[in-house]
Amino acid sequence: MYSINEIFYSLQGEGFWSGTPMIFVRFSGCNLKCPFCDTDHSMKMQLSPAALLAMVRDCGGDCRRICLTGGEPALQVDAVLVELLHSAGYTLHIETNGTKDFPEGIDWITVSPKTAVFDDNRADVVLKKADELKLVYTPGCSPALWEDFPAPWHFLQPCSMKNTSEVISFIKAHPLWRLSLQTHKYLDIR
Ligand code: SF4
Repeated sequence: MYSINEIFYSLQGEGFWSGTPMIFVRFSGCNLKCPFCDTDHSMKMQLSPAALLAMVRDCGGDCRRICLTGGEPALQVDAVLVELLHSAGYTLHIETNGTKDFPEGIDWITVSPKTAVFDDNRADVVLKKADELKLVYTPGCSPALWEDFPAPWHFLQPCSMKNTSEVISFIKAHPLWRLSLQTHKYLDIR
């Protein structure tokens, strides 16, 4: 059984796939306690693999792209679920803080390390590569620490709408980075 907060259908708001329809499966629970965290990842339901697939099918219509998020989805995502969702025709994305391993086969990995917020080392991140790296930019964080992380795309995301101009200035001075906005908040969608 998986502990789930919510399953819903919307547009990806952040990073490379921004604007793309996805079914979001939000797993409950996280192994970190980030000071800026505004995500409700409390447990609202427990679902078997089959029940989870049924809910995904119910809410997602013709969409065949799932984003496994949280909380920290790597605490729960296992090979059984990856195989089941792939067999049902879904492409799988995961958004992870990178501190826990997860099964092979996920189609797109977004790592959003939080250690840049807490300290100046990458020791807590066990992932060795990703499809995109997305850092939440907070005053005093260390994006430079992550510039050589093996990912084709490096995004910086303001931690709130208030520090967007600071992030834009940083990116203009460090053009490896690209801006990621939480566009779902600007659009007032989920
Ligand atoms: S890793 Fe993400 S979900 Fe977990 S506490 Fe930090 S911001 Fe919240």
